[in-house]
Amino acid sequence: MLSSPVFDIQRFSIHDGPGVRTTVFLRGCPLRCAWCQNPEGLEVVETKDDWVPGVMREVCADRTYFEVSGGGLTLSGGEPLLEPSRALTLLRAAKAEGLHTCVQTCGAVPTSTLLQVLPLVDLFQFDLKHVDEAKHREWTGAGTARIHANARLLIERGANVQFRMPVLPGINDDPEHLGRLAAFLASLGVSALRLVPYHRHYLAKYEALNQPARLPALEAPSAAQLAGVVSGLKTRGLEVTVDGA
Ligand code: SF4
Repeated sequence: MLSSPVFDIQRFSIHDGPGVRTTVFLRGCPLRCAWCQNPEGLEVVETKDDWVPGVMREVCADRTYFEVSGGGLTLSGGEPLLEPSRALTLLRAAKAEGLHTCVQTCGAVPTSTLLQVLPLVDLFQFDLKHVDEAKHREWTGAGTARIHANARLLIERGANVQFRMPVLPGINDDPEHLGRLAAFLASLGVSALRLVPYHRHYLAKYEALNQPARLPALEAPSAAQLAGVVSGLKTRGLEVTVDGA
């Protein structure tokens, strides 16, 4: 059965780029992160070809809020660049409407896709989940080579990139990892990182889907754990901001 490639649209988002935004979630992801909060959006579906006008109508309904706040359209997922034609169609439509555009990516996409969308994207929010190759493979199912090469390419091409790290206690918050992450960002000439604290609200989705969550016991970082990560990164020279703070 053909269906929409969009599995959710969230209006009035304030953590998905600057200002007030509408976030469109596209299906399909090349990774399988153990903490994935959108299990309903991981598989690609065959696509109806008439889905774009409806999505853009919903996005443009909030144009006044975008204009007042400096907001716009954010593409998320899943991995919104997994199927380049979908992202390109939406980004072109957004630009035709004069909207600010943000793409949230895990970076595990072909470099050619990034180069295609680059002129249409005002901000990339680029997630670095773990910089160690083996750990990244263990926790997400894929290595880091392509992700790191794509991060470097975007910086070299002058893209506006905000790097983010989900804060996952016991997985990526240890001093050794923070040091390696800071060194990787320094090698790119990047001096800022946004932290996205893990939360447990999504676990109900797995129950609803009748799927086992891979990390049902993982707790959100405590205030002290989060403060430790912030200070560990700041002492390594990074400017650190925290989602929701
Ligand atoms: S990259 Fe995001 S959507 Fe994809 S599996 Fe990881 S957490 Fe889920």
